[in-house]
Amino acid sequence: MSVIVVGGGLIGSAVAFTLRDAGLEVEVLDADLPGAAWRAAAGLLTPHGERLHGTPLHADALESLSLWPDFARSLEAYGGQSVHFRPGVLHIGRGQGGQESEPAHQSVPEEGSLHPPSVVRAALAGVKVTRARVLALRPDTRGVRLQTEAGERRASLVVLATGAWSGAFGLPVRAEQGQALLLQGASDHPAQYGTRRRGRGLHGYALGRPDGLYVGATARGSAMQPDRWALRWLGHMARTTVPAHADRPVQAELMGLRPITPDGLPLIAPHPALPHVVVATGHGRHGALLAPLTARRVLALVRQTLREAA
Ligand SMILES: Cc1cc2nc3c(=O)[nH]c(=O)nc-3n(C[C@H](O)[C@H](O)[C@H](O)COP(=O)(O)OP(=O)(O)OC[C@H]3O[C@@H](n4cnc5c(N)ncnc54)[C@H](O)[C@@H]3O)c2cc1C
Repeated sequence: MSVIVVGGGLIGSAVAFTLRDAGLEVEVLDADLPGAAWRAAAGLLTPHGERLHGTPLHADALESLSLWPDFARSLEAYGGQSVHFRPGVLHIGRGQGGQESEPAHQSVPEEGSLHPPSVVRAALAGVKVTRARVLALRPDTRGVRLQTEAGERRASLVVLATGAWSGAFGLPVRAEQGQALLLQGASDHPAQYGTRRRGRGLHGYALGRPDGLYVGATARGSAMQPDRWALRWLGHMARTTVPAHADRPVQAELMGLRPITPDGLPLIAPHPALPHVVVATGHGRHGALLAPLTARRVLALVRQTLREAA
């Protein structure tokens, strides 16, 4: 029984890792598309910062957050490299009651951060990955036929984890552009939400990562081209969020497309029209946070689908 995961981003790589860990034969087909969200993602695991309390995502966000410490350890053990998982996020907001007083600092130890590109690399370390774009899926008597740029492939089951490109497979997912800045150095800067400037409330965030100091992030439009307005806003964010570091040279301007569903909730289910295809997409702003829980749910769906097909 072979499983092909289409898309090797934050979700596809976590799914492939989990399926392989459960003893399934897995291959990932990834097109390495410019604009993949995982290359631009900050890596914050922050249900509180993202104000998920009271939303339908809150319980899942907390559950997935609780899975991260063990998931990170497994990734590092199998992948042989650090994913830079760090507990604790500092929240900086207005003073008591929203007064224009000294900023209030609140440490949230149960939140955390990691480095998304390292997560993807570690998750795929032991998995066969083929660089190919999947163009179409067709049901087959023994599973699914995949038409790819590199010829036709067959699998018992396909997991579609194609992020913002999922609309190409009949799924209601649109792209939302996000931009961020990576400044040189300050890799040990703590993960931080909000600004130190008085009365500015909770806007923007910054965190030290192995590749520099990340300052993010915008959410605007769906264009593939970076926009100048966003870069100006990010410069302002750096000056108000991490003023001591704002003059550091820019190491990289990052841009990624978040996959968004109409109700803002991830889509983890059998494909509505294609048998033997399981869908895992639409994670919007929270793909890093939700990856371990999504992978667990996809494993259950894959096992059920393979049992029914046997
Ligand atoms: C600026 C920014 C900051 C973010 N910060 C955070 C954060 O701090 N915390 C958090 O939890 N989330 C964050 N996110 C959101 C997170 O990045 C996404 O939710 C997550 O990456 C979605 O994962 P995915 O695997 O569905 O999509 P992606 O990571 O975009 O991966 C999709 C993959 O599918 C491949 N693909 C697509 N179509 C095909 C095809 N037809 N054939 C083969 N391969 C294909 C692409 O090449 C790509 O590698 C951020 C996003 C952005 C843009």
